[in-house]
Amino acid sequence: MSTATSMTTSASSRTYVEARDVATAVAAMSAGARPIAGGTDLVVGARHGKAPLPAALVGIHRIPGLADVAPTDGGGLRLGALVTHATLMADPTVLASYPGLADASAIVGSHATRANGTLGGNVMNSSPAMDTGAPLLCHGGVAVLVGPAGERRVALADLWTGPGRSTAAPDELLVAVELDAPPADGASGSSYVRLQYRRQMEIAIVGAGAVVTLGADGTVTGAKVAITALAPVIHRVAEAEAALVGTDGGFEAAKAAGAAAAAAARPISDVRGSADYRRAMAAVITRRAVLTAVRRARGESVPVPASDTTFGS
Ligand SMILES: Cc1cc2nc3c(=O)[nH]c(=O)nc-3n(C[C@H](O)[C@H](O)[C@H](O)COP(=O)(O)OP(=O)(O)OC[C@H]3O[C@@H](n4cnc5c(N)ncnc54)[C@H](O)[C@@H]3O)c2cc1C
Repeated sequence: MSTATSMTTSASSRTYVEARDVATAVAAMSAGARPIAGGTDLVVGARHGKAPLPAALVGIHRIPGLADVAPTDGGGLRLGALVTHATLMADPTVLASYPGLADASAIVGSHATRANGTLGGNVMNSSPAMDTGAPLLCHGGVAVLVGPAGERRVALADLWTGPGRSTAAPDELLVAVELDAPPADGASGSSYVRLQYRRQMEIAIVGAGAVVTLGADGTVTGAKVAITALAPVIHRVAEAEAALVGTDGGFEAAKAAGAAAAAAARPISDVRGSADYRRAMAAVITRRAVLTAVRRARGESVPVPASDTTFGS
């Protein structure tokens, strides 16, 4: 049985191949084709004149097994590259153990964007403003890439190198992202909050993700904090994490973490906000993300997406 169908899409020389397995996709990519999953970035961007569609495309959306959400042997979670944002924001395991990721997927674009847009497309865009990046980093995300030489695993912190740039080769297909098991040594909670001027069809002006673990007496025993749209790549902030460990996870501790995030930020000025404004908002948004993660770690219910309900905290 054939594992690919192909066609010429127009009078131009553009070609489209539809892969039905990973090997076919990788072979097409090795021959110069760009993978297309949901197309919400590639196709919509081309329509808006952001960048022309690549001359050769390989459709990956029908490859079996890449849309699965499944536990890993180590108690973590494996998210297939084709898992959509709509699936992520409603998946029971994600909501229970990785709610920060649900917070992020729930605010991507519109219903249509979330129904079609995939985790793999979001990750491989390597945008410093993409929403799943901070929670994926805080949950120990590892990219599973398959290329002509086989499979390799790259921590997401080592994948993104700048806006639109990554260490993945052009012929490496992302097949999954794997997340750490939730901390076993205490109660944990996570969150992702972004500054947005409207609820839908917005990109992050500033964003922050947090994972907090509490000991039996309520002291913060572990913390991970990552910031979005505040540097050429989404990254964790060790100083913000250190400001939380050993504290009660209250307002003053969250404020200190926010101040550390603002100090670590290297924002740009653009039409959405000046660098100074972004830096000031980094403190506020990080504080809200931390306080939300702490509330969830304490067992409080904070609805997804957290960005809609954490004003004023
Ligand atoms: C109206 C609108 C609103 C949006 N809002 C948001 C938002 O709020 N937050 C946000 O983060 N993003 C947003 N986006 C961007 C986009 O929807 C997401 O990044 C989405 O997750 C992309 O997934 P996709 O499957 O559609 O990617 P595609 O368009 O199919 O691909 C995107 C890029 O990733 C590459 N790629 C895709 N899959 C793989 C793979 N498995 N391996 C290797 N490379 C791959 C493609 O070659 C391409 O370069 C928005 C887009 C639109 C059009």
